[in-house]
Amino acid sequence: MNLEAQEQNEDEAGSALGWNKDEAGNAIGWQNEHPIFETHAHYDDDAFDEDREALLSALPENGITRVVNIGSTLEATAGSIRLAEKYPYIYAAAGVHPSEAEELNEETFAWLKAQLSHPKVVAVGEIGLDYYWPEPDHELQKKWFIRQLHLAHEAKKPVVIHSRDAAEDTLSIMKAEADEELSGVIHCFSYSVEIAREYLNRGYFLGIGGVLTFKNSRKLKEVAAYAPLSQIVLETDSPYLAPVPHRGKRNCSLYLPLVVAELARIKGVSEEEARRITWENACRLYHLPVE
Ligand SMILES: [Zn+2]
Repeated sequence: MNLEAQEQNEDEAGSALGWNKDEAGNAIGWQNEHPIFETHAHYDDDAFDEDREALLSALPENGITRVVNIGSTLEATAGSIRLAEKYPYIYAAAGVHPSEAEELNEETFAWLKAQLSHPKVVAVGEIGLDYYWPEPDHELQKKWFIRQLHLAHEAKKPVVIHSRDAAEDTLSIMKAEADEELSGVIHCFSYSVEIAREYLNRGYFLGIGGVLTFKNSRKLKEVAAYAPLSQIVLETDSPYLAPVPHRGKRNCSLYLPLVVAELARIKGVSEEEARRITWENACRLYHLPVE
């Protein structure tokens, strides 16, 4: 491809994604703003097969200067580690999502455990319970949730918790199996203020993303208003859950400023403050230096 065609292509990809430019087509001066820490994305997903490299390479120049790519299956864990090896600003979490619990057995669990010694694996996740569908069997989900919690504890790594339609069982397992040495984030937090309080009191972070911008997200807005800003981290869950006005389309970390804007509004702080504090929180969560 010649340079002109390449530039044109990048420009098209850029404007399609809303990179760099505001609605009037002016460059967005993110350079003057604090960078954003994306705490939860799935860039190994097929949804990024066509432009993964272009998109990931463009993140730092667009103010997204740290990303944790989260494992959801064994293959996705391997994919997350490959991305972390390729890009200095990407880190990986190793874990198996509750909906994929059938992948786990003693052999695959041993493989998962071995991945935790990789220098760029910063967490165990995502792990938890998902009762939205009847399968996999809830007892099987609980078994591997607990095993992976113990794995994180042994490895002294934080956990990335996925919990959907399973508030009660998740909390009772956390109370029974996780002592105060274990830390982590409740990703894509979707429960009430009462449940949020339980996790906040235990020192957990709440992962907040595109849902915060949805019109019908009253419950999450209440949680965001209630939770101390010092315990909130930013996430996309890309390719899912794109914020308004991209709702329903493929999500990516470049849309995080839309979440920052809504969070700053709810907390009554500047966007700069919201960026800086959530950055510091994410560094504490994943045991990374602030600089
Ligand atoms: Zn996820």
